[in-house]
Amino acid sequence: MDNYSINTKCVQAGYTPGNGEPRQIPIVQSTTFKYETSEAMGALFDLEAEGYFYTRLQNPTNDRVAAKIAALEGGSAAMLTSSGQAANFFALFNIAECGSHIVVSSSIYGGTFNLIKVTMKKMGIDATFVSPDCTEEELDAAFQENTKAVFGETIANPALTVLDIEKFAKAAHKHGVPLIVDNTFPTPVNCRPIEWGADIVTHSTTKYMDGHGAAVGGAIVDSGKFDWMAHADKFPGLCTPDDSYHGITYAEKFGKEGAFITKATAQLMRDFGSIQSPQHAFILNLGLESLHVRMARHVENGQAVAEYLEGHEKVAAVSYSGLKSDKYYELAKKYLPKGGCGVVSFELKGGRAAAEIFMKNLKIAAIETHVADARTCCLNPATSTHRQMTDEQLKEAGIPAGLIRISCGLEDKEDLIKDIENALKAI
Ligand SMILES: *Cc1c(COP(=O)(O)O)cnc(C)c1O
Repeated sequence: MDNYSINTKCVQAGYTPGNGEPRQIPIVQSTTFKYETSEAMGALFDLEAEGYFYTRLQNPTNDRVAAKIAALEGGSAAMLTSSGQAANFFALFNIAECGSHIVVSSSIYGGTFNLIKVTMKKMGIDATFVSPDCTEEELDAAFQENTKAVFGETIANPALTVLDIEKFAKAAHKHGVPLIVDNTFPTPVNCRPIEWGADIVTHSTTKYMDGHGAAVGGAIVDSGKFDWMAHADKFPGLCTPDDSYHGITYAEKFGKEGAFITKATAQLMRDFGSIQSPQHAFILNLGLESLHVRMARHVENGQAVAEYLEGHEKVAAVSYSGLKSDKYYELAKKYLPKGGCGVVSFELKGGRAAAEIFMKNLKIAAIETHVADARTCCLNPATSTHRQMTDEQLKEAGIPAGLIRISCGLEDKEDLIKDIENALKAI
């Protein structure tokens, strides 16, 4: 599959059936796998042989879908998780532990922010948040002796900032640690962070990858490029023997290409058990088969809606990196030449009251806390996810009361614009 375009990989990578085998990836709906001798199974337990013994660790359906995502991102290995939250937690916790520190872009998904700021903090992992727009010097200054990783989102949800991946990768590598990038919004169809220096890529597959609002899931992809052994003192979990696996040293036994995902599977999935069910992996793969076709339409609709809103008298501001007026237009041209995604955010001049009227009058766009779905959906943080905050507090947090996030689906763009036009008229 290596020589084919990403469009072909979306459809066919990860699974090549043999003669007479199912054309579609079979759903292996089995928790366990049978062996003739306990020796044969023992070899699997010891990670001495490849194969399946229990679905919490590995399942053939999941492995094929993970292999497709690895191929799409240009990585060496990948694993599926039960959600995007689990993917980001595993990616970080695989190399950071009590006493560690991570450098994190401040412009990230709220769930990930909580995970890092509150929950991982309780586990003894500290974080320094930096603006995605910081200078190289400011970024440099955020590192500590015990820093283990740098984390950011290609296009942040919901702020829609664009990460300067090369700048963040350069700083991470200078300090001997990997860059982890959450690539949920653009998907590998629109950006492949590994090509710009990212070492690990994560996904909430719940969003565009599934794309139909059908299955919560996540994925982690390893570039296979980070040299753990060259920084062995920083990464003892990968570079010294694992007592819970008969003294295996992951970076030695599985090399740069396999160490990270093998450790995350063998230790974290074994102990935390946040697996994706094979049914969900199957549904995810149906989404992946059309990802390249859908992303182009999401971008086309997002661009059309952003351009329409930008010219409207009742709209105070629009954020969409495909607009020339957008702060991230230049970065987007570099990292997202095919466009970013279908999510647009804009501020209504009339604040909270205008937002309520606008949302109530939409017919195609539904009010949901979801994004990246085939169906257009929208959200006003001030009256939903952030409703406990006053207008003053919202302003301070950079979320004005009249802010609306609209995730443009796959409907006809003229219909979407008409729907928005009618709702704006009602204000
Ligand atoms: C939704 C989202 C997550 C969390 O994913 P879940 O699948 O909901 O757990 C993480 N990162 C980004 C960028 C997201 O949009």
